[in-house]
Amino acid sequence: MDGATHIVHGKFGGGKATSFDAEMMGLARGVNEALRNLPAHITQLALCSDVGPSQLAAISACSALRTFLAGNPRHRVLLLWVPAHKNIEPSDFVDELAKAALDGVQPDFVSYSMALARVRARMKSKWDRVALDTNNTAYRGRHLWVAIDPPLHGATAKSTWLLRHAGTSNHNTARAARFLTNHFPCGAYRAKFNIPGSHDCLCGGGLETRDHILFHCPYWIRTKAPTTSQRAAPHDHSSHQLRNQRGWFVDDVLEFLRLNPMVSTFGWSEILAEALADRERGQPHSRANARLLAHMVERVFS
Ligand SMILES: [Zn+2]
Repeated sequence: MDGATHIVHGKFGGGKATSFDAEMMGLARGVNEALRNLPAHITQLALCSDVGPSQLAAISACSALRTFLAGNPRHRVLLLWVPAHKNIEPSDFVDELAKAALDGVQPDFVSYSMALARVRARMKSKWDRVALDTNNTAYRGRHLWVAIDPPLHGATAKSTWLLRHAGTSNHNTARAARFLTNHFPCGAYRAKFNIPGSHDCLCGGGLETRDHILFHCPYWIRTKAPTTSQRAAPHDHSSHQLRNQRGWFVDDVLEFLRLNPMVSTFGWSEILAEALADRERGQPHSRANARLLAHMVERVFS
């Protein structure tokens, strides 16, 4: 069971804690009760449970069990998993007790896992709204990457393309955002905003645009061939942009950024500017030029 599902359906016991908290607390309490005044001839404790983890309660139970185990080398703890709610009499009895507790006065604090579940549910619902807006045609940058990938939400690296590629790195997330919105330091950007620096790519392929870098420039590694252009509907930015994306998904773009760590970085712009200045001074073998070459696939250029 996950906490978010409980919130959506409003089935939290008292709205203050998750079922994990309650079940683990029951287990920890049981261990402590069993060990209180334990007769000396008892050498084995059997714990039967169907629950997942709750750290605080688990620590409490482990601490009590450690003392029990250290007291006598013959002491044993037996852990048994029991299927829940399958007409097992003690389990049904505990269920009844738990439901009855809901009628009592509830505390005004919430457990850590409950708070976490609430935050995650709130975050996901906000993220859902943002994801729906991603391809909103009312306002979108002309060159914003049109995401036809699965929506940009989810809390795990498996379910989210951005997390899968950028992980927990702020640097990689910022780089991906700059590249996908087409606001990153490159020749076309410098030309558009009158920023000093080169406009054309060093490879001789003309203006250094995102499309040039992604699909044409011989300097960078790519593992997927771009498809041929499709016809775009007139006056439709979205279909024009899709045509320009040449059959690549966001996943493909992020993989490209991963393979070419200098693309879309300010560091690359600095190296480029320095290398070009060195060449103009007649120093083509300067340190900046060595760095430039070190980051590109093509090793020879004039
Ligand atoms: Zn190029």
